[in-house]
Amino acid sequence: SQSWQGMRITVAGLGVSGISAARALAGLGAVVTVVDGGDSGTHRERAAELAEEGISVRLGDAETLPEGTGLVVTSPGWKPDSPLFAAAAEAGVDVVGDVEIAWQLRGENAAPWLAITGTNGKTTTTQMLASILRAAGLRTAAVGNIGTPIVDVVLGEETYDVLAVELSSYQLHWAPSLRAHSAAVLNLAPDHLDWHGSMEAYAADKGRIYEGNTVACVYNVADPATEDLVREADVEEGCRAIGFTLGAPGPSQLGVVDGILVDRAFVANRQKNAQELAEVADVNPSAPHNIANALAAAALARAFGVEPKAVRDGLRAFRPDAHRIAHVADVEGVAYVDDSKATNTHAAEASLAAYEPIVWIAGGLAKGASFDELVQRSAKRLRGVVLIGAERHLIAEALARHAPEVPVVDVERTDTGAMSEAVREAAGLAKPGDTVLLAPACASMDMFTNYNKRGEAFAEAVRGLAAERA
Ligand code: ADP
Repeated sequence: SQSWQGMRITVAGLGVSGISAARALAGLGAVVTVVDGGDSGTHRERAAELAEEGISVRLGDAETLPEGTGLVVTSPGWKPDSPLFAAAAEAGVDVVGDVEIAWQLRGENAAPWLAITGTNGKTTTTQMLASILRAAGLRTAAVGNIGTPIVDVVLGEETYDVLAVELSSYQLHWAPSLRAHSAAVLNLAPDHLDWHGSMEAYAADKGRIYEGNTVACVYNVADPATEDLVREADVEEGCRAIGFTLGAPGPSQLGVVDGILVDRAFVANRQKNAQELAEVADVNPSAPHNIANALAAAALARAFGVEPKAVRDGLRAFRPDAHRIAHVADVEGVAYVDDSKATNTHAAEASLAAYEPIVWIAGGLAKGASFDELVQRSAKRLRGVVLIGAERHLIAEALARHAPEVPVVDVERTDTGAMSEAVREAAGLAKPGDTVLLAPACASMDMFTNYNKRGEAFAEAVRGLAAERA
């Protein structure tokens, strides 16, 4: 493993991951400077705290490279074309992310990594995988883009048999030497293109996850772009391409037959050509996209040698995180579902596909997305639509183009009362048996701190409505 003793390292960004990287590297004897363009009270408080630990912080300048820098460690929010990285390139200095640092710091007998990326479903699938590995009696943790910063996990006291690692496209971009045991790309849809510059660059960063895999590259049969990435990857000899599908599986695939999740890729007993893993009903919630997540998690676990029974037990024990297709309440025969985490059109399409008829609450910050395809494909399920947020007109225009018959209510206010007005309007459109679904297809920051707050506002409004109508 790497020695950073005495090296001058510049950490870009005074956020959670930057601070964790700075502390870890300082702990290893590196001379660390954190740089950040901001200079607010919060920035200064954090800087003062780090200064006491011997870590210097330079505020108000995110562009120039500190004298003598030997390595730059970046944070997720920093775009690849940031001036600091141009300055690093000019000085011949490498730029890496927290995952690369963690990978280089892991010890000789470190746990192998089972890695997961994709546009949507990463967190869910990583947690399902950890649940399955735990059910198999393995010491494991779900890490990476979730939970404890990965550098802290690698340097921590605890030892693991295997890690379930969620990786964002940003983290993959800056992790050139990472080599997973096995990895999965769940799906590929346009997102974060402002960061990566193009769909090709985004896909290429996602595809990095397969480089050097030793046992299995798991791809989505329904999303050929993921299989292309497997084909282009340079893997170890004997590493297999394993597909997952919601239909009947071919050889080297996992899939679904008569409501049963089955494995035709890792079959020990040559007499049988498929191994039953679990029932669709064991997956919570059992919406199609989530069955796909379960199959991907199962594929990685099976690649690691986990028995079928542990797959079933692990899936049964899994509980989804908040704001991911969470049933909030039934009011007057209408179900209210919070999928605030659907922050892009691809995610919203998955949850819209799981219900019918739907009163859809959508809107927020579009991040440059187009809503035409989403609206076209979902139109026939819609009883009505309630639009909120700064860029709601973009969805209204797509609806006018492709679903002019669907009633649309525009919530013009964007203050804290907007969500309860939206819920009230949705209740007015819904009939018993319908689902009111918050699946905004947009980021939340125009009206809320984050998607959690947006989901909480929705749930609170629904509880208010229930109390009123009780
Ligand atoms: P990520 O970590 O990739 O953001 P999450 O597991 O947090 O993904 O799920 C985010 C949202 O994406 C969910 O609320 C759901 O609407 C949607 N989603 C989850 N899995 C999938 C999938 N396999 N395909 C499409 N959409 C999905």
